[in-house]
Parts: sequence; structure tokens; C-alpha cells
Amino acid sequence: MHIAVVGSGYVGLVAATCLAEMGNDVMTVDNDTMKIEDLKKGIIPIYEPGLDEMILRNVREERLEFTTDIRDAVLRSRIIFIAVGTPPEEDGSADLQNVFAVAADIGRYMDGPRIVINKSTVPVGTAEMVKAEIIKHTSFRADVVSNPEFLKEGSAIDDFMKPDRVVIGTDSDEVAEEMRELYAPFVRTNNPILVMSNRSAELTKYVANSLLATRISFMNEIANFCDIIDADIRDIRRGIGSDRRIGPSFLFPGAGFGGSCFPKDVKALRATSKENGYSLRILEAVTSVNTDQKLILIDKITKHFGEDLKGLRFAVWGLAFKPNTDDIREASSLVLIDELLKRGASISAFDPEAMKNTREHIGDVIDFAESNYQALENADAIVVVTEWTEFREPDFERMKKLLRQPVVFDGRNIFSPSKLKGLGFSYYGIGRR
Ligand code: NAD
Repeated sequence: MHIAVVGSGYVGLVAATCLAEMGNDVMTVDNDTMKIEDLKKGIIPIYEPGLDEMILRNVREERLEFTTDIRDAVLRSRIIFIAVGTPPEEDGSADLQNVFAVAADIGRYMDGPRIVINKSTVPVGTAEMVKAEIIKHTSFRADVVSNPEFLKEGSAIDDFMKPDRVVIGTDSDEVAEEMRELYAPFVRTNNPILVMSNRSAELTKYVANSLLATRISFMNEIANFCDIIDADIRDIRRGIGSDRRIGPSFLFPGAGFGGSCFPKDVKALRATSKENGYSLRILEAVTSVNTDQKLILIDKITKHFGEDLKGLRFAVWGLAFKPNTDDIREASSLVLIDELLKRGASISAFDPEAMKNTREHIGDVIDFAESNYQALENADAIVVVTEWTEFREPDFERMKKLLRQPVVFDGRNIFSPSKLKGLGFSYYGIGRR
């Protein structure tokens, strides 16, 4: 099939590459000229495991191209994906200007019927508005499908190639059939393609992310309570996670959730509910618990060192909002760094992939180390913010020698409290005994 994917970020680039991998001819469009120029030169703008190699191969085999020319892409494609950003407005609602700009372009340039697939995360009712925008500019038939994306950064290729389910929002049997054909190679193990109305499909995405965020905020609150009553959240997690009604996933407490999806999607769903005269009260709590949780390590740091952190140096391990990505959008590390600096501390940070993005975002207000060990030199404590696997089994004796004081603030509970205490560290986890 001839496909265009508009937006070549974390979702669009992965979707385009995986669609090409299945043999489709895919044009990837972006209005960021630098990004497209880089992609044409084989420079991949994001870190996603396995993506570089797959892009280069599909380009070489002439199934994947990059362009800023949306007109050409619309003319050459039967199916057009919209995968542009939908960042939050000040009131939490999703900013849809990128989506509508693309819709208008599609309407302007299409020279026959098209299927327009909305992959961006958008509020209920957007498909109808996208269709209205397209048909302002054309008299050809445009079917707008809501097809939310559930991939996770860090395992995006696997998630796209083998989705747990594909959600398709459309009222047309004919379009549903075309979508089944498009996705057939991705669901060969019989994972379901779920066809529903556009509105239900749009809402499904927000509900999925909001429920996952709710589990995390809930566990974070319980972990904080464990700290007070001297219980261990790991035991609680084991105790409840083995209950099949609950299951073991998304029960890990930590220093708050970040990323470009959970914080934004929880807020956007709340905004949609308000617009429709209903208040999703649980989601208000999810956001406010998470805002506080991003500062939970500061509480622990000031309990140990006192409120004034002037003259102290902290080694921060991990800047990305989670492992295996370079994405720092809404990352807990940024909130922590900001607060440590305000309190007069200095910081040396290390992250395997996210240092470039962090430097571009905050500048040289902190030191960027060349390795996780170098970050420890002359630091008064280490603060773990992202649970990269390479941080899990470090050489603790070496760490002790490099640190000025053997103090560990483990924001992701990756170390064993008893082991670290045995080695002479002061250890602070999240809800650990
Ligand atoms: P991103 O910011 O990484 O990428 C968006 C891209 O769209 C950018 O390259 C930008 O230049 C481009 N763009 C914006 N306006 C454009 C226009 N008018 N024409 C052409 N290109 C344009 O965003 P992302 O993380 O890929 O997210 C895209 C959408 O997918 C969002 O709605 C997001 O909520 C959703 N989503 C994201 C994830 C994720 O893990 N990142 C997962 C599922 C869904």
C-alpha cells in the first residue's frame, strides 16, 4: 500500500518504519526541515532501540522516504496517518492546531478519496472535526479513522510490530475492512483488531493511560505510607500483584511518572470531562499526587542533610523519564534538578542517552559526566532517578570510594536496602524498610 505518515517523532517515525518493514511504500513527512534533512542523511533524531538499523534498511530497500512536501505525500498515498504532537494547553486540554493544520493540507491536496488515520492522541470528537476541516477544502471523499497508538518509548518497535490490540474507530464497514488488511501482518498471533465508533476509540486511549497513571499514583501514595508505618512496598506489591484480578504490572512506586503521555493525557481527559459537565475526580488526585511525588526525593534529601543544601554536590543517575529513551519531556529529573539548584546544591549528572536533550533544555547549569562513576566524584550523595539496567548492579565499593559521603537516594528502588546498609551506605528508597 502507498502510505504517508505526517509527523516523524517518537510515534510517526516508528509507525512509518514498521509499516515499511511490512512491505508498504511509506513517505514520512515533517515540517521540521532540519529533522528531515538529518533523516535523509541517515541521522536518526531520536533514540529508540533498534530503530536506526530498521530505518536505514527500509530506506536502502526504497520502501521508506522522508520529505517536507506534504502535497507530494498526499498525492501519492491512499492512506495518510496523522502522527503530530498534541501538547497540553494551559488548561490541560490538548492543543490540536498541528492536527488541524495537517487536515487542512490533506483536504487541499487530495485528488481522490483518501483514508485519514488519526494516530495522535486526541480528545473525543476530534475525528468529526478533522473530517469537517478536510472537507472545507475538497469535494472528494475522506474517511477519518481514529486509531490511537499504544506503543511505549523504549520498546516501541516491538509494541508496534506486535500490538496487544489494534483499536479502530470508524462507522464504515468498508473502511474497517481496509484497516484490517493494513494491520493483518501485525496481528498474526490473533491479537484482536477492535472496531468501534470514533468517539469510543478516542476515549479508549485516554482511559488506558489514565488507568495506568492511576495505578502508579496509587502505589506511590501507598509507598509513602509504608515509609511512615515501617512496612515494605515490595512485599505489598508481591502480595497484591499475585492476585489475578490485580496483576503485577504498573505497581512499581518511584519518584513520579513523566513522559509526553501520562501527565498530558490525564490532564486532557479531565479537561474533556469538565467541558462535558462532568468531573473525573480521581484524575485530579492522580495528577496532584504525581506533582508531589516528583519532589519526594527532595523530602528525603532534606531530612538527611537539612533544608539548606548550599555547598553540597549530588550525583544524579538518570535524566530520561524512563529507561531506554532519550525523552525528557516532563521527566522527574528536571523537577529534582531545579529544586536542588534552588537550594544551593551543585549537580553532576549522567544518563546513557538523554544528556544531549537535557543540555539543550536546561543548559550548562549542571555538570554532565562521562560515566555514572565519574558523576560520583566528590559528590555528597547519589540520587537515582531513572532505572537504566546498567545502574542496577554497580560496583558499590568503587562508588563508596568516589563519593564524599556514602549516601544513596534510590528513587526507583533498584538497590537492596539491606545490602547497601551492610556496605556502610545510608540508604533511602521509596517505601522500603
Ligand atoms: P513528537 O513531538 O515526538 O513528534 C511530533 C512530530 O510532528 C514532530 O517531529 C513535529 O515536527 C511534527 N509536526 C508537528 N506539526 C506538523 C505539521 N503541521 N506538519 C508536519 N509535521 C508536523 O510527538 P510524539 O511523541 O511522536 O507524539 C505524537 C502523538 O502521538 C501525540 O499525540 C502523542 O500524545 C501520541 N502518542 C505518543 C506516544 C509516545 O510514547 N511518544 C505514544 C502513543 C501516542
